[in-house]
Amino acid sequence: MHERVFGEAEVAESDLVTRRGTFRAVAFRADGHEHLALVLGRVRLRADVLVRVHSECMTGDIFGALRCECGEQLDAAMDAVVREGSGVLVYLRGHEGRGIGLVEKVRTHVLQDERGLDTIDSATELGLPVDVRDYRPAALVLRHLRVRSVRLLSNNPDKIQALEDNGIPVTARVPLLMAPNEHNLGYLTAKRDRLGHDLPQVAGHQDLLRAVDG
Ligand SMILES: [Zn+2]
Repeated sequence: MHERVFGEAEVAESDLVTRRGTFRAVAFRADGHEHLALVLGRVRLRADVLVRVHSECMTGDIFGALRCECGEQLDAAMDAVVREGSGVLVYLRGHEGRGIGLVEKVRTHVLQDERGLDTIDSATELGLPVDVRDYRPAALVLRHLRVRSVRLLSNNPDKIQALEDNGIPVTARVPLLMAPNEHNLGYLTAKRDRLGHDLPQVAGHQDLLRAVDG
């Protein structure tokens, strides 16, 4: 008998045919939100499974906003899993604006646009925390899927720590580097310089955009 992670009422799964192929869709409830894991191929009892733990960003993921790189990362992560032939994409709800919620996130956009504050200062100016995302639901579903260890598609060292703290071994970090654009360069620079994300592609683009500006 293996560990039962979710009660029967808290999880449901079915095949999901997408334009990228057929995934197993595992919907589950954890910590007051409903989340989704998309599973490709066989991952059960496997080590070094390619995994993306993606924080919900409605503006970027659904509407293709260019002020962050979330939508592009989501696409790139799905493509990477398909290239690999197996893997898991965990889509975590309740993670808007690093956990402050959609309305507050949009409020931070006002401060960014009108006063030039960055993604961190615009949150603290509103009395909001900079990052309150909880990765426990991702760890739960990976346990439910009986994944032994993961190679994590992420630029964020904190995310590795969070998964390991929740009992999921991370054997490697696989960078997910998106080319910056003029709308998200400041955002990416703040994430690199102030939140410790590993974004080596940003430096080159700063020079490039400066050159274009003349
Ligand atoms: Zn975003």
